[in-house]
Order: sequence, then C-alpha cells, then structure tokens
Amino acid sequence: MSKPQILFLAISVVAGCGGLRAQENLPTAGAPEPKLAAESGTPAHKFWDAENIALFAGVGGARMMDYASTRHLRDEGNDEWLLTDRIVDNRPLFVGIELAGTAASIGVSYLFHRSGHHTLERWTSVIHIGVGVGGSVRNYLLKPPTVVVTPATGFQTSLTFLR
Ligand SMILES: [Zn+2]
Repeated sequence: MSKPQILFLAISVVAGCGGLRAQENLPTAGAPEPKLAAESGTPAHKFWDAENIALFAGVGGARMMDYASTRHLRDEGNDEWLLTDRIVDNRPLFVGIELAGTAASIGVSYLFHRSGHHTLERWTSVIHIGVGVGGSVRNYLLKPPTVVVTPATGFQTSLTFLR
C-alpha cells in the first residue's frame, strides 16, 4: 500500500468519525440508552454475520491484489515507496505483512463493533477494499522506469521521476 493510500485511509476513518457524531441522537430525559446501536440506529448484530464475513473476504482479496500488483510493479523494475524494496522482495515477509494488514482491519472493525459504531465497523472494510483495489490498479498501470546508461561510466540511472 502506498503513502497516498494510507493517507486516504486515515483521512477517511477520521472523516467518518466526524460524521458519526453528527448522526448521534441527543438523549431524551429518562429514556434508556440503546446498548449496541449508538450511532446509526441499526440494530446490534453478531460480529461474524454474513455482511462482515463478505467484507472481510473483500479486504483479504484486496490485500492479495495489493500483493500481486506490488510484485508486478517490482518485476517491472519500479520501486516500492511505502515499504522498502528489500521488504517487498522478501515474499514470505510481504505475504505476512498483507495478512497482518487484513487482521488489523478486522481488529479495527471489531473495536468499532464493540463500541457500538456499526456503521464505521462496515466502512472500515469498505474503505480498505476501495483503497486496496485502487492502489492495485495504479500499480498495474505504472510503466517500467526508463533506464539510461552513460557510455563513459557505465553508470545506470532511473528516470522514472521525469515521466
Ligand atoms: Zn457491529
């Protein structure tokens, strides 16, 4: 996942939190607080319901796309700029990072679920899928870097930044 993707994800989560407050209903005197449906009025549900299972599968799929597209990017000679090339080129480590990203996303969803923020719980996965798929498409659309070899020195340089 690239820096703009991470930034977009963080901004989206923060923006979602702000919108959540605007949706909260003011408590009525003497009325009991709803237990697990604080922000959206949606009824409480089991964490591992069909919708979350589908969303988490989507997050896992998006992370797999990120893995494949980043490997494609590296095979084309481009550099990863969020992680180091050394990390990305270590395939077992990179797979572990993608799995950890999926687990972290599920963990964030669980925290939102436990705190009664069920809309944010779902949006965490939706945003993660969107950012992952968008980043993967971008990775596949990148062109290989232009390499210039200077005859006198044999020094190679990448001109990717000039395109
Ligand atoms: Zn929930």
